[in-house]
Amino acid sequence: MDITMIGTGYVGLVTGTCLAEFGHHVICVDKNTEKIDRLRQGEVPIYEPGLEVMVAKNVKEGRLSFSCELAAAVSAAEAIFIAVGTPSSRRGDGYADLSYIYEASREIAPHLRGYTVIVDKSTVPVGTARQVARIIGEVNPEADFDVASNPEFLREGAAIADFMRPDRVVIGVASERAENVLRAVYQPLYLRETPIVKTGIETAELTKYAANAFLATKISFINEMAVLCETIGADVVALAKGIGMDGRIGSKFLHPGPGYGGSCFPKDTLALMRIAQENGQSLRIVEATVEANAAQKAKMVKKVRDMLGGSEAGKTIAVLGLTFKPETDDMRDAPSLTIIPALLEKGARIRAHDPQGIEEARTMLPPDVVYSEHAYEACTGADAVILMTEWNQYRALDLERLGTVMKHRVFIDLRNVYQPDIVKAHGFSYSGVGRT
Ligand code: NAD
Repeated sequence: MDITMIGTGYVGLVTGTCLAEFGHHVICVDKNTEKIDRLRQGEVPIYEPGLEVMVAKNVKEGRLSFSCELAAAVSAAEAIFIAVGTPSSRRGDGYADLSYIYEASREIAPHLRGYTVIVDKSTVPVGTARQVARIIGEVNPEADFDVASNPEFLREGAAIADFMRPDRVVIGVASERAENVLRAVYQPLYLRETPIVKTGIETAELTKYAANAFLATKISFINEMAVLCETIGADVVALAKGIGMDGRIGSKFLHPGPGYGGSCFPKDTLALMRIAQENGQSLRIVEATVEANAAQKAKMVKKVRDMLGGSEAGKTIAVLGLTFKPETDDMRDAPSLTIIPALLEKGARIRAHDPQGIEEARTMLPPDVVYSEHAYEACTGADAVILMTEWNQYRALDLERLGTVMKHRVFIDLRNVYQPDIVKAHGFSYSGVGRT
């Protein structure tokens, strides 16, 4: 099939590349000319394991190309995926900013030739597909098209595996023609017997928000359990095992930490609350999840202060990991963006390391953060170290070496990577999340 991807970011680039890997012919379009230039030179502008190799392979085999020219890319396509950003609106009210979606719709419309399915891949509020159809119909009344919803569930850091081996594919369609096109797009997954969940368009749109809100709720739940565990001297890691082995609960997303972040959960929980409000409902559990997450980040700042004897002022704190999760360079809404400025404000000095996120972090964190090339260098002379993101390279630190380069042996493990006893045996004072 001939497929066009509008928006070549984390989702668009991975989806486009994986669809090419399935055997389709894919053109990835983006407004960002620098991004397209880099891709054309064989350079992948984001860090996503395995992506560079797969991009190169599919470009070489002639199934994947990159372009800023929308017109030609659109007129040849049987399916056009819209994978542009839908961030929280700049007004700060939690509504999703749909301007990129609507702009893309207006740009696509004049160039449609023959029956085409426009697929909303971006996470969008209920009713967006209808608006996209209205815009395209207004701009090009002759166009023969359907709009469908096909939300994406991939995780950054494991995006290729998630796309190629999904638990399910959700397609929201309003016509058999559109359904047939989407089934043809995902035909290669039939071999793996991947369930295709066919729904109405509104249901598909809402399913994505419901999935993210549920996962965020699971995280906030275990984070609150962690606080209770710390208070009563229980161990949340053992507790998570104890509940997670119950098949009705499941063991995933029961890892306490500094609060969820990233480009999806924070904005999507807020957008879901707004969707509910607009429809005269309130989602009290989602509201509590969002509140608990903000509280969790504040509690982490207090934890650091307590571990430093009551004040951050004048202390040097090493931070290992800045991105919202390992194996990505994505800094959007990372907990580090809240926790580090709060520590700086109280007079701490921050020395930070991240395997992939430093370039982006420099643009998002206050300028007084000092970045290091190596983890041990960041820890040199530090009064405390915070393990913020559980990158593999931080999972087996040489604790003796760490203690030697640090000024004081204080280890704050916000991902519960280390066994408290082992860290303490090296003379550190240790604090995890939900266990001491
Ligand atoms: P992103 O910011 O990485 O990429 C969006 C891209 O769209 C940018 O490169 C931008 O230049 C481009 N763009 C914007 N307007 C355009 C236009 N009119 N024409 C061509 N290109 C245009 O965003 P992302 O993280 O890939 O997210 C995209 C969507 O997918 C969002 O709705 C997000 O919620 C959803 N989503 C993201 C993830 C994730 O893990 N990142 C997972 C599932 C769903």
